[in-house]
Amino acid sequence: MSNFDCDLAMDLLPSYLEKKCGEETVRFIEEHIKNCPKCKAMLDAMAADIPMETSVEKKVFHINPVGKVILLVLGYFVFVLILLIIITYLFVHGVL
Ligand SMILES: [Zn+2]
Repeated sequence: MSNFDCDLAMDLLPSYLEKKCGEETVRFIEEHIKNCPKCKAMLDAMAADIPMETSVEKKVFHINPVGKVILLVLGYFVFVLILLIIITYLFVHGVL
């Protein structure tokens, strides 16, 4: 097993445990775990940790609205920036 596969599996384990990942991911993890004792051990450890994970998720859920607002503002900012770039481009080329 390559290190990349292990890194990928480790990254995907949390969503695999919460069943938030797609079919392809489930197949990849299950296939990888068959051949990789290291990641299997990691999965078992994480599975045993699930009650703690859920409480962490509840905390994240409380923070989430603020994050959503920040994302919204950021998205709006990027939108305005792109609009400004387009307008500037049009001005420079004498379209407006
Ligand atoms: Zn592995």
